[in-house]
Amino acid sequence: SRLLSGCSDSRRLAGKVAIITGAASGIGKVTAAEFVRNGAMVVLADVQDELGRAAAAELGGPDTACYIRCDVTDEAQVAAAVDLAVARHGRLDVMFNNAGITGGNYAAAPIESLDMADFDRVMAVNLRGVAAGIKHAARAMAPRGEGCILCTSSTAGALGGSGPHAYSVSKTAVVGMVRSAAAELAPRGVRVNAISPYAIATPMGARSVREMLGLPPGGAGDGGKEEEEEVVRRVFEEDLNEMGGGVVLRAEDVARAAVFLASDDARYITGHNLMVDGGFSVA
Ligand code: NAD
Repeated sequence: SRLLSGCSDSRRLAGKVAIITGAASGIGKVTAAEFVRNGAMVVLADVQDELGRAAAAELGGPDTACYIRCDVTDEAQVAAAVDLAVARHGRLDVMFNNAGITGGNYAAAPIESLDMADFDRVMAVNLRGVAAGIKHAARAMAPRGEGCILCTSSTAGALGGSGPHAYSVSKTAVVGMVRSAAAELAPRGVRVNAISPYAIATPMGARSVREMLGLPPGGAGDGGKEEEEEVVRRVFEEDLNEMGGGVVLRAEDVARAAVFLASDDARYITGHNLMVDGGFSVA
């Protein structure tokens, strides 16, 4: 019917070429899978080579998914990832600047003991890495007059007191960078959006929640997926009493938001910060 033919394709990213940074683990890895399932070709970029290669191999042959080592603090490596995507697939449609580190201890250390070297390291990955990703994606996208850039912020960027200082300010700044790039790039057909998750069951999420709640370290998520989910559920029990213990945000929840923003369904959405937080930021 005409009514149905106006609806979106279920493979919402059919034929699109995407780069995802931080794709060897957690949100990036699951998003790479969600993108492939929706018909995209994905370049997985990370510094954990073994995990990154394994994730790419699991997603299919080199035409569908490949891995490139890309430390986002090194602009030349970000440029090389963009060049690889363009050389291999002819263009770049989606750049997901997702790599991030928490630094410090998630139980926000007192400002008096702010470690400036840690501060610089967190900013280099979480903010400069994102800026480099936007810069080089725009170089590939703007001349074609289309493209979508996504950047992972955090509820910690929107709300004071919910993360280590350097982490929080890096994530606030990501939203600022997204807005300023979106304003410049909108007339050139390139959209730029942020996604802000709350605690997600990933290695990082489980480690952060342990620190936040003063639980003993569990070995950075090496307890596997179930352990990560169990730990992350705890923070919802503490923070979102009215939601009870039933809530646990998974990487899939962020990945699906990313699929939507990357798809043509979101073609007029730019400069936005999409909260994926189970209501945390409004509770
Ligand atoms: P994760 O630790 O599971 O994955 C992050 C990935 O980024 C890792 O594979 C790591 O190797 C990679 N990475 C780190 N430094 C890098 C660098 N310099 N260059 C390239 N890659 C690098 O964490 P995650 O939970 O999947 O986090 C993904 C993003 O989501 C991060 O930006 C994080 O700040 C954000 N986030 C996570 C949560 C959460 O609770 N998990 C909440 C809000 C925001």
